[in-house]
Amino acid sequence: MSTVETDRPTTLVSLPASVPASGDRRRHPAPAHLRFFHGPMDCGKSTLALQVDHNQQRQGRHGVLLTQGDRSSAPQISSRVGLSRSAVEVDAGTDLKLLVRDRWADGHRVDYLIVDEAQFLTSDQVDQLADLVDQSHVDVYAFGLTTDFRARLFPGTQRLLEIADDVQRVQVEVLCWCGLPGLLNARVVDGAMVRSGETVVVADTGPAELPGAAEDSSPAVRYQVLCRRHYVRGELSPTTAGPGQLALP
Ligand SMILES: [Zn+2]
Repeated sequence: MSTVETDRPTTLVSLPASVPASGDRRRHPAPAHLRFFHGPMDCGKSTLALQVDHNQQRQGRHGVLLTQGDRSSAPQISSRVGLSRSAVEVDAGTDLKLLVRDRWADGHRVDYLIVDEAQFLTSDQVDQLADLVDQSHVDVYAFGLTTDFRARLFPGTQRLLEIADDVQRVQVEVLCWCGLPGLLNARVVDGAMVRSGETVVVADTGPAELPGAAEDSSPAVRYQVLCRRHYVRGELSPTTAGPGQLALP
């Protein structure tokens, strides 16, 4: 009975949903998508990125993982739950379309891209991702921080919000010290929250206590996720409460 499908114009009937084999994408290019997942630090973005990669691989699809700001000699996307996978380190000068075409030229399939730290992409690079989606049917899954320490959108994030097919705020797993959902990334320099400075400082998105991140002579910089209320007040913990506020004895 299933052979009847091929005799009908597919636009007129609703065929039973079936999962197309990966190779079908070439004969009948289904629209690919640019999907963006964003949230504060430590909200589980990298874990989600690796889960998406795993699910895609199980469908027999081939992907490339991209990351930025990984200063190790073997770049990878790693999650706080212990998963990791090697990734390609890119920077602001990387032509992402060229990167994929080079893979193809070397005989590798690229069905999808996983882009971690997508907040660091330039606007042009996000447009390159959109071209890969629209012209080459490569699915793109981008993961990044929503806002910087000034509570302003990162450039890559802004462009992704503007043009992505689908945008999802990652379910917040990280809490402010007060127990409310953490939304904003505070920059803490030598123990005090700061609201001005360079948009990007090394170890920007690493875990709060990234080993070795601050071992040079510059001030110790770390990041802490706060709820909006405590971000606005600049309160990093109960003990830093201002005059008249709750304070531990
Ligand atoms: Zn709070």
